[in-house]
Amino acid sequence: MSQLQEFQDCLRNAKRIVALVGAGLSASSGLPTFRGSQGLWKNFNMIDLATPDAFYIDPGLVWQFYAWRRHQALKAQPNSGHYALAQLSKQTEKEFITITQNVDGLLTRAGHRKSGLHEIHGSLFELRCTSFTCTYIERNNYKDPLTKNLSDFGFDEDDLDTTMETLDGVDEPTFAAPQALLVDDLPKCPVCNTLMRPGVVWFGESLSLRTLDGIDGFLQAGPVDLIMVIGTSGTVYPANSYVDLVRRGGGAVAVFNTDIESEILRGDVANTWGFQGDAAEWLPKALDVS
Ligand SMILES: [Zn+2]
Repeated sequence: MSQLQEFQDCLRNAKRIVALVGAGLSASSGLPTFRGSQGLWKNFNMIDLATPDAFYIDPGLVWQFYAWRRHQALKAQPNSGHYALAQLSKQTEKEFITITQNVDGLLTRAGHRKSGLHEIHGSLFELRCTSFTCTYIERNNYKDPLTKNLSDFGFDEDDLDTTMETLDGVDEPTFAAPQALLVDDLPKCPVCNTLMRPGVVWFGESLSLRTLDGIDGFLQAGPVDLIMVIGTSGTVYPANSYVDLVRRGGGAVAVFNTDIESEILRGDVANTWGFQGDAAEWLPKALDVS
């Protein structure tokens, strides 16, 4: 029996399923994977753009970076992999959650059931008040541009269209030449008028306890029969701990990624299947067991 047939037999019988999703799934929608930590943005690196310190030092710069990423994500469309997971999330005979590291909102836009979607790195389309005493959070804000001053991203739209079609991560679009912005040019809390921040988890920040609790609740409610690791190596915390937990509980593991260990591809790892290539192409085929 082929790995695909074995996987589909498992999927048919599985009652409780987890999908663990990383940047590789959205690469087929044209979004960069931000591999590595340096040199991806002209003149900037992660430390300048995606840390609490960066935001404290220059919120205008950080907001322009996130406005640019929102714009890119909104121009992208969910792909057939997103839709396949969204469809699985609506099957009533199975308990299914998706844990995604992506902040691009594409699973939501594909119609993934909201209660089963855990965005562990937050969302580009969430805004949070930075006041210590105010807890205001705005979700599903798809306004583009967010404010009238957050519309100029310092790059040529035509160039972006070309580079976004390459999926190998080499010609990723570059973020460059932001303008100097004041706090008054940036999104403000409608409740207390304090500066808002992007609702994403930055380097050096902890994952949201509420999100992790939601996932733990599912994992502790009973054994998971199958975990699908999609567009990610699944080797980084907490993703790796979820895979280990499912494996220890006797569940099966299916990996959909461009890069998979040869041991798995040969079928030498017990209860583990590997589907190498574009996850957006594999998923609709693999999840179609009707
Ligand atoms: Zn506020």
